[in-house]
Parts: sequence; structure tokens; C-alpha cells
Amino acid sequence: MNNPGIFLLIAPVFFCLALSPGRSGASEAFTPPGPRPDLYRKIKASVDSVRLIDTHEHQVTEDLWLKQDMDLFYWIVQPWGFTQNTDSDLLSAGMPEGDWTFIMDSKNAPEERWARLAPYWSATRYTSYAQPVRIAARVIHGVPDINDSTWRELNRRVIDSRKPGFRRKVLHEMAGIDLLILDKIVWVDSSLAAGPPPGTVMVKRFDDFTLEDNFVQPGREDIQAIAARYGVRIETLDDLLASLDKAFEEIVRRGYYVGLKSALAYDRIIRFEDTPRQKAEKIFAEILTRPMTREERRPFEDFMMHQVVRRAGKHHLPLQIHTGCQLGPGNDITNARPTLLLNLFQKYPQTRFVIFHGSFPYMGELTAIVKNYPNVYLDMCLMPVFSVSVAKEWLHKWLETLPVNKITFFGGDCLFPEGAYGHSVIARQIVAETLTEKVESGYLSLEEARQVARLILRDNAIKLYSLERFL
Ligand SMILES: [Zn+2]
Repeated sequence: MNNPGIFLLIAPVFFCLALSPGRSGASEAFTPPGPRPDLYRKIKASVDSVRLIDTHEHQVTEDLWLKQDMDLFYWIVQPWGFTQNTDSDLLSAGMPEGDWTFIMDSKNAPEERWARLAPYWSATRYTSYAQPVRIAARVIHGVPDINDSTWRELNRRVIDSRKPGFRRKVLHEMAGIDLLILDKIVWVDSSLAAGPPPGTVMVKRFDDFTLEDNFVQPGREDIQAIAARYGVRIETLDDLLASLDKAFEEIVRRGYYVGLKSALAYDRIIRFEDTPRQKAEKIFAEILTRPMTREERRPFEDFMMHQVVRRAGKHHLPLQIHTGCQLGPGNDITNARPTLLLNLFQKYPQTRFVIFHGSFPYMGELTAIVKNYPNVYLDMCLMPVFSVSVAKEWLHKWLETLPVNKITFFGGDCLFPEGAYGHSVIARQIVAETLTEKVESGYLSLEEARQVARLILRDNAIKLYSLERFL
């Protein structure tokens, strides 16, 4: 289960966009150097031919992407969104937050930004988080590495590439993504008001305090915003629940929402007690009149989460839930254990729960859950960039422990196209290497391995989220 192939993948080999195959997935260009068995080549070719269903992205629309200062520093410091992946490692390596803020400000001189970044980049460049941007630099922009002598040229190429059409080419041609499921975060993206761009469907959040429709953890202002949005008065819990019904009706009517998403594990423990209605009503009345502490509001949030989960089942919308390692510094990992959700899995058998990121590092707990509950699914999105070898090890184990229809594998989980591309290259490599080993050991036949690749990279997601109508 060790993973030498993946590390060969990141050896500094020079390729450029002009040499890329421009078809589904990656291909010869990404095959690690050195002899590879014929079996691997056959399986890798099959894996590369699969058009991906990307179950988790934060990609901004092209309109917004063209307006952002997405230069090289943006890549390295926050390639997956606000204070996330690579910068998690940079801060973990000791980067002062002041340096992080300085680097993120595009008005500062690039030389000084690089000077502050370089010591920490040299410490974090070997983590799996860093590999998608290293691959993207090499393959998309033709710059063999990110270091003192290459960063200026790479930065120039990243900025120059921000032109209409590039985003689509990288995501849909180079990465071979047929359809991506967008989890909108961070910025107001007004281009989405009329619906998502081609090749994109969406999930809806009801519990994010930075977005609209914050039904689960609202303050008074959120409730006022909900009232204005749905043209109603909200004075009682019944009023709020009636608006939640309207919100569900609206996302069903819009047609392009294929599920829901909850990332509450960033804000609080994901155990949601079954709060009696009377108690929820009492807290709701107080929320309308005064600011409340998180602790005071929690039973109400629990109550509302149950309301959302019940309606998700009624409307056949799978609920994606973040579990495991939160991105960014200083989080409480014990808030994010998948076993905390057991009461929801049990109480709402009609609701399909999709448990994200393999619950890393709680993979063992998640195995028992997905194996036991017909309504709970496993999504390995992001695992390849937590650790390529952990992702491979657990793909091996999950193919042995779980019905294969319960596994979806790839989500780029990124705000900019090059990061999702680099992630897709790693994901395809992991799937190909794992399945090759499964065939070599006699566990699967070659034909079965090809079927598994197609299921976990595409067909399972199509079925789970009812995506046929978008393809
Ligand atoms: Zn995400």
C-alpha cells in the first residue's frame, strides 16, 4: 500500500499546455518516469478515459474569476478557499499571521511577498496539499517547479492566463470534468443569480452565516433577511419553518440544486440533539430580542438541523456533510467525528447522507457507519490532498469493506481551475495504482477494475444525485 508512484509523479518534469492531450483526463504526460507494468498502463488509460463527476467544488464563475487577483501567491496561500489547505500548512509551519496577510495583499511588492513566503513554502512543498499547485505549475504553465528562480515567470504566466475560455479548458478539457457540483462559499458571485454556468450544478447550504438562508444558526439579522427574501413576517417558530418550506420549494423549482451541504463542523460539534419543540420555540423568541451566546442557542440549532434533514429526505436531496479534519488553523477535530451524526442517520432513514473527506482521520469509524447504514454514503473528496498514500490505503480498504455503490471518489474542492486540475491528476493516479494492485493480487479482474473506476469516478455520483438530466 505504499505509494512510490505518486511521489515520482511530482518529479520536476517539464510539460506545457501545448503538449497537453486536450481530452478527457490526463494521459501519457502524467505517467511517472521509469518502467511501468503493462497492466498499470491499461488501467491508467481506462481511468483517464472516464469523464469525471466532480462531487465537490468551490469554483467561482468565469466572470468573478476574471475579476479576482488570482496570481501565484493566491494559489499558494489559499488555493482551496478562505484560509484553507496550503495555507493551513504554511501557518502550521510557523508563518506569522501578519506575513500571511501581507502576502495576500496584491498591492504589496511581489518580491517582498515572495521573500516572506519562501521560507514556509520550502517547508510545506512536500505535503500533499502542495502537490496540485506544483503539478499545475508544471503541466499547465510549463514551469518545472515553484522556487526562488522560477516564481516570477510562473506568476507572470498565471496572471496572463486569466482570460475567457481558460477556466473551461482547464476544468472540462484538461481535468476531464463533465459536471461539477458547486458548493458556493466566500464571495458573492452575482453571475450565479441566473443559475450556474454550463457543466455545473449546485448544493444548497442552510447553515452558513456568511450566506443567505441561514436557517440553522441564525441571529436576528439573518431572520430579518429570510423574511425579506420570502416576503413574509417571521414572528414565531412556525413562521420560520414555513419559510424553510418555501426555501426548499424554491430550490426544487430551480432544478439545478442536486443536494444540500453542511459544514457546521467548522463552527460547532456535529452532534444534533433532538430538542423538544417547546424549548426551540422559547430560544427562538429570545433570538428575536437579544444577542445570544453560541451555548445558549445550541438546542435551537439542533432543532433546526433536524428540520433541514427531514426536508432533505422528503425532497430527495442528498445531504453532504463535512466531517474530519477542518482546513485552517486552530480547529477542534473532535467536533467533526462521523459517529456524532449517528442519531440523524437512525432517525431519518429516508434522508441520504454523504459523508465528506472520508472523515479523515476517523476513517475506521466511518467504515462501520457506511457499512451499516443504507442511507449513508462515503465521499473521498479531498483525501488525495490530505495524503496521497492515506487515500490509496483507504481506497484499498473501502473496496474490501463497502458496497461499491456507496463510494464516490473525486471532488477538487478548490476555488480556481488549476488547483482542481492538479487534484484530478493525483486522484486519477491513486485510483489507477490502487486498482492495478487489486488486479495484481487477484482480488479483481482487469474488467472489474475498469468497472470500479467508472463507478467511483462517475456513475455512482450520477445515480446518487440524479444527474442524468444534466448530461
Ligand atoms: Zn470544500
